[in-house]
Amino acid sequence: MKPIMRLRWFFTALSVLLLGMVPAWAQGAPFGPVKLKVSLTQAPQHIFRVTETMPVQSGPLTLYFPKFIPGEHGPTGPINGLAGLLITTGSQRIAWHRDAVDMNAFHVDIPTGARQIKIHYDFLSPIGGGRFTEGVSTTPVLADLEWNQVVLYPENLPSRDILYDPTLVIPAGWHYATALTTVSHDGNVIHFAPVTLNNLVDSPLITGRYFKQYNLSPGNPVHHYLDIVAQFPKAADLTPKTVQHYRDLIVQTQRLFHSHHYGSYHFLLTLSNNVAHFGLEHHQSSDDRTGADTFLSPRTTMLAAGLLPHEYTHSWNGKFRRPAKLWQSNFQAPEHTGLLWVYEGLTAYYGSVVLAARSHLDTAKAARQRLALRAAYLNIEPGRTWRPLGDTTTAAQLLYQAPSFYSNWRRTAGDFYSEGTLMWLDADTLIRQLTHDRKSLDNFAREFYGIDNGSYLTVTYTYPDIVAALNRVVPYNWNGFWHRLLDKTSTHAPLAGIVRGGWKLTYGSTPNAYEKALAATRHMMLAPWFTLGLQLKNKGVVTDVLWNGPAFKAGMAPGMTLFAVDGERFSPAVLKRAIKASVTDAGPLRLTVKNQGRVERFSIDYHGPLKYPKLVRIKGTPDYLDQILAAKQS
Ligand SMILES: [Zn+2]
Repeated sequence: MKPIMRLRWFFTALSVLLLGMVPAWAQGAPFGPVKLKVSLTQAPQHIFRVTETMPVQSGPLTLYFPKFIPGEHGPTGPINGLAGLLITTGSQRIAWHRDAVDMNAFHVDIPTGARQIKIHYDFLSPIGGGRFTEGVSTTPVLADLEWNQVVLYPENLPSRDILYDPTLVIPAGWHYATALTTVSHDGNVIHFAPVTLNNLVDSPLITGRYFKQYNLSPGNPVHHYLDIVAQFPKAADLTPKTVQHYRDLIVQTQRLFHSHHYGSYHFLLTLSNNVAHFGLEHHQSSDDRTGADTFLSPRTTMLAAGLLPHEYTHSWNGKFRRPAKLWQSNFQAPEHTGLLWVYEGLTAYYGSVVLAARSHLDTAKAARQRLALRAAYLNIEPGRTWRPLGDTTTAAQLLYQAPSFYSNWRRTAGDFYSEGTLMWLDADTLIRQLTHDRKSLDNFAREFYGIDNGSYLTVTYTYPDIVAALNRVVPYNWNGFWHRLLDKTSTHAPLAGIVRGGWKLTYGSTPNAYEKALAATRHMMLAPWFTLGLQLKNKGVVTDVLWNGPAFKAGMAPGMTLFAVDGERFSPAVLKRAIKASVTDAGPLRLTVKNQGRVERFSIDYHGPLKYPKLVRIKGTPDYLDQILAAKQS
C-alpha cells in the first residue's frame, strides 16, 4: 500500500501513515468496477442473493471472502454463510476449488478470451447464535446488511483500489438507510454511486417495513441522522426529550474533538428482540442493534444510554485514528490488537460514560452507578493475578469468542472496555491534578483526534504517539504509567481515578437504580456475586462461579441449577433472605442443586450482609468525576 504524505506532516510525523478512505482517483486506476447486485427480497427467509460481474483476464485468479472484519477485531467473516457458488463466463461454467489452507479463498482458472465473469452465490443469514454480525440480522419485517457478507473480491489488491458499483433490491414497501450515496431509487431497486471496497464494507445498510428518521443536527451543514428500523412502529417513537439528548450528543462530541471525519453521519439503529444485539462502528455510520422496548420505558432507555455515544466516538477513535497494525490493506491480513485499550478502552470511557452523561442521555448519578458496578466486578476478578490487562488486548480475537464460564479467572474481552474506562479516568484526573485544573484529558482528545477537520483519511498511530501526545498535554512518566496498568498483574482493579475523582468504591445493602434495571432486564441476581461468588439467573441457573470465592470453595461449578436454599424451594427472595440471615447464623448456607443429572448439596461458609457496589463521595476533595461528566459549554 502507498502512504500519502502531506506537507504539514512531512517533517514531523515519521510514524503516521495516511491510509484508509482514499478516493479512488487519488490512487491511480482502480480495479473494476465490479457490478454487485444484492437482493434482499428473500431476507425474511434468511437469504441474501448475490451476483457480481467482474472484469477479468485469462489465467489463474483467486477470489476472497472477507475474513478479518474491521471493528470485530478478529477473523470473524462468516464464510459458512456462503452457499450455491456458481462462476460463469458467457454460457460457460468455470470450476472453482477452495484453498487447502485459507478457507476464505477460492481459486479459478479464467479461460482464454474471457473478459468478465459472473459470480453467483447466496449468503445464508443466521437464524441464531453467532457474535456481532455473525448473529441474527433478518426478521420478517427488517434486515441489516453488512456488505462484507456479500462480496468476493480479487486477490493481491488493496481494498481501497477495488471499485464496486452496487445495486440493491429490497422487499416491496420496505425503507432503507445507509451512508452510501443513492444515485437512483426506482420502486424497490436502489442504485448506489460506485464506491471502493473498503468504503462499501464500511457502509452497512438497514432496511425494514417500519422506518423512522430523526434529523439530529437541523440547520447544520454537516448532517447527522438517527435512522431506525423497528420490530413494530411504536418502538421507533422517541420522545422529543430523547431526540434532544441525541442532538446534544452531536454538540458535545464536537466540543470534545473540535472536528469531524465524515461527509454526513448515520446512526443505523435496529430495534428488535429478534436480532443479535451489539454496536459496530463505521466511519460515517454505526450498525447499532438493541431491543424493541429500548425507548418504551425509562429503565430500558437508561440501560441503552451508552450504546450510540460509544459507536459515534469510534468515528474519531478507531476509524479516523487507528492503531497502525489494526489497519490492513485488505480483509485477509491479520490484525494486531494490542492497542485496543486505546481503541476500545478510551471509547468506553469517552463514549459509553462521559459523552453519554454530557449529552444527558445518562445522568451523572446513573453514570456513577455504572462505574461502581464495573469497578466492583473488576476489583474482585481473580484473573488479574495471572493475566495482565495487556494480554487481554493481545488475545482479543480469542476472548471475543471465549465461553463465559469461569470468565472471572480467564478474563474477558470486556475487561479492556471496563478497565480501559478506569485507566483513562485515572489519566484524566491525573492531568487535572498535575495541571492544577488548567488541563484535562479533553486537551489530549482535541490534540489527538481534532486534526484534519473534514478529512476521511485514516491516520494511524503507535504506542509512542500516545505517550508523546500525553506528554505534550503535561510532562509525566506516561510510559511508566501505562506499563504498570497494562503489563503487570495485580490483585485489585486500578481505582486511583475514582479516588482522585473524589469518590470511593464501597458496598451498600440495597441495589441502586442502575443495578436494579440491569438485573431486571437480564433476569439475574446481583447480590450472590459479591457475597457467595455465584452468578445466578433468577431461575437458579449458575452462569459463573467466582474463582476461590465461597461457593467455589464449597465445590460449586458453573452450569448447576440451584433449586433449594436451606431446604426451602429456591427463589431470588428466598436466597436473599438466607444471605441476610447468614450474618447471625452460625451454620453454613446449605444449597441443593441439580448437576448433570444428579442432585447435590453444598454448604457455603459465608457470614456477611447483602452487598451492592456504589460510589460514595470523599468529603473535602475536588469532585473531578462530576466535573468530567458535566456538559461542556463551549
Ligand atoms: Zn467499541
